[in-house]
Amino acid sequence: MAHWHDFNPWADVIVYVPDLEEFASCIEGIGRLCTRLYPDGTSETFIQTIEHHIENWKLCSRNRGGKGHLDAYILPQPSRLHDIGVRYGRKPEDYFSPMGNRAKVEALLHKYGPKMVRDHECPNGHKWTAEVVLSEHTQNLSSEATQWCPKCNRRAFISSPARAKSHA
Ligand SMILES: [Zn+2]
Repeated sequence: MAHWHDFNPWADVIVYVPDLEEFASCIEGIGRLCTRLYPDGTSETFIQTIEHHIENWKLCSRNRGGKGHLDAYILPQPSRLHDIGVRYGRKPEDYFSPMGNRAKVEALLHKYGPKMVRDHECPNGHKWTAEVVLSEHTQNLSSEATQWCPKCNRRAFISSPARAKSHA
């Protein structure tokens, strides 16, 4: 039986996250209050948990006649505001696309995605290529660690867009 991945227009760039709990921990709002409204006018307020989300996805899968199989993924975006989603069925609309916490999704992509590199140049014209490394302590908008020239130790002055290491 074909897997939905075979028909995925983003098959080349999608990054699967095998660990559902790890994936769900990146959803914005985990640990916060959430109110759900029902069609009959009642509502329920609860604290969003990782388990809530996973249970809900599995329920959706079973409602679609599945066995609770879920594919969690990241669709990397050049803007770094990556889309995240969970596919629970074979129909095109059988997926959720929750809002991800930007920094957590970035870290997850870094863990499971292809290793990325950038070419750098310092003000003295030295050139080097380095793997993209994330840093929790950086002020950089990209959340990447600052690059320093291996020859003169000056800060990278020009940096290329990130590209997959294998395409070097
Ligand atoms: Zn240099």
